[in-house]
Amino acid sequence: MVIQMEYGLIADTYERMEATSKRLEMTDHLVDLIERTPKELIDKVVYLTQGKLYPDYAGIEIGIAEKLAIRAIALATKVDEKVVRKSFERTGDLGETAQELLEGKAFKVERPLTVEKVFETLDKIARTSGRGAIETKMNLLSNLLRETSPKEAKYIVRTVTGKLRLGVADMTMLDALSVVYAGGKGARGEVERAYNISSDLGAVASTVARGGLAAIRKFGVQVGKPIRSMLAERLRTPQDILEKMGGACAAEYKYDGERIQIHKRVSEVALFSRRLENITHQYPDVVELTRKSIRAKEAIAECECVAVDLETGELRPFQELMHRRRKYGIKEAMELYPISIFAFDLLFVDGDDLTSRPYPERREHLEKVLAVSDRAGLTRYRLVRSAEELEKFFEEAIQDGCEGVVCKSVGSHAVYQAGARGWLWIKYKRDYRSEMTDTVDLVVVGAFHGRGRRAGTYGALLLGAYDPREDTFKTVTKCGAGFTDDDLARLPKMFEDYRISHRHSRVVAKLEADVWFTPSVVLEIIGAEITLSPIHICGLDKVRKGSGLAIRFPRFTGNYRLDKAPEDATTEEEIIEMYQSRLKRLPA
Ligand code: AMP
Repeated sequence: MVIQMEYGLIADTYERMEATSKRLEMTDHLVDLIERTPKELIDKVVYLTQGKLYPDYAGIEIGIAEKLAIRAIALATKVDEKVVRKSFERTGDLGETAQELLEGKAFKVERPLTVEKVFETLDKIARTSGRGAIETKMNLLSNLLRETSPKEAKYIVRTVTGKLRLGVADMTMLDALSVVYAGGKGARGEVERAYNISSDLGAVASTVARGGLAAIRKFGVQVGKPIRSMLAERLRTPQDILEKMGGACAAEYKYDGERIQIHKRVSEVALFSRRLENITHQYPDVVELTRKSIRAKEAIAECECVAVDLETGELRPFQELMHRRRKYGIKEAMELYPISIFAFDLLFVDGDDLTSRPYPERREHLEKVLAVSDRAGLTRYRLVRSAEELEKFFEEAIQDGCEGVVCKSVGSHAVYQAGARGWLWIKYKRDYRSEMTDTVDLVVVGAFHGRGRRAGTYGALLLGAYDPREDTFKTVTKCGAGFTDDDLARLPKMFEDYRISHRHSRVVAKLEADVWFTPSVVLEIIGAEITLSPIHICGLDKVRKGSGLAIRFPRFTGNYRLDKAPEDATTEEEIIEMYQSRLKRLPA
């Protein structure tokens, strides 16, 4: 039996919904609509009411440009495009224009327009691509408009141009579904849980419509449907965090990259962003890493994807990763901006939904499942029990190029709270950072041996700023980026004459370099920002007691400042000024 529903019924409800801004009334209208909708069609009606055809993560948009819609309306109503445009100028709403132009035109409609017909046509419009797509889309729309009443046309045109905007929030829809099918709003929590682990309102609606609360309780995590992200609260001090966490927590490096939710089924991999867009095409390297690193048939894992310097292994700033956000030129971007992934959660593995297990258990599973390599690892993690331990770990995180730490509850109640910002995760970030726009000239005071491709030469140079008052060089950064292969090959020879067996008496450093030099050579360096630092000496105690300043993400510009004596290098005072002048508070 073919189940049918008239689109007119939906259009009538939309009209009533538009007349209210009260959430309760909105819910009542929705309840009414859901009650009249056959269960077989509930998912489609739910998507349509939000101006969609599928859940967002499917990435299928109807997306008809206004220009094209104008042509379709003209064709359907047999008027000149100019007339449509004129009306549109007046109404400012193409939907209303379509309604107006259709009024008075009595098309002979044989059967009432059904929801299926509307859905099917819009679906075709959304999926048409390639040559001639524009004409096809236009014809599909204009043919559909010939079968509609003026009111139906209004809502269809708004839907295809992305202007439906009835303001039906996900939570209002969940309320209405609970009322009709789960015994009342009291069941909202359970219905919402299903939504939070699937991000698919249509699937939740179908499930609750067919099987009520019992079916919703059985609704499980599915590979391929993104789980809504768990989010962190924020506190300003380690003391506050530990208090909230009951005296102990797992502190983890907070990497400055892009969150990716990985879904793997055998060799099929899908990647979702924090906002649950499908970003698989952007990261062929993450897909490959997933295949190699996740030792399970099926898994859903969360990781932070970070730009890295493959030669030094250092993390690169977030801005570099942003070059990976593109539709074309993926392969080139992949080579220019390589990445590593740091996994921090496992939500599902081989049939086992882990979202309601405590975090330490999930982490244990994650450790078992992930084959660690130089491009795929786990987030650095330490169980801390005091504010001092937490502060120390935090400073290490900053030093290693991270934004701060995420503290996670290790209690038995520490489930994965899909879609919620809660106190089970608390972030602790650097309070301040200061963007760098100018280059600085720094003195080479030491070096670290290279590994891998850099074996035999230096992996990074230790650099200092000049303090004219004390006549010393105070370390401010460790730089391994920006050197060409030629530079690298030359470095040991170039510094041979300056090499000494101990730290030079004019060099002030907390770090222990592998090799020390007499301060002589000046290099031009550009960094991304200046931050407080537990291990560099430049600016020590001048901005904050116990902290110095460091240049983060330094890169050699290629400019050896042979014209400069070490005493002509950028001074400590200048670095402090640069830090203070561009200081900005981080957003929460
Ligand atoms: P925020 O975006 O400032 O609210 O911080 C939360 C974000 O930090 C998450 O969405 C992740 O993208 C990122 N993140 C980095 N490292 C971790 C980690 N170890 N655990 C959880 N989230 C992390």
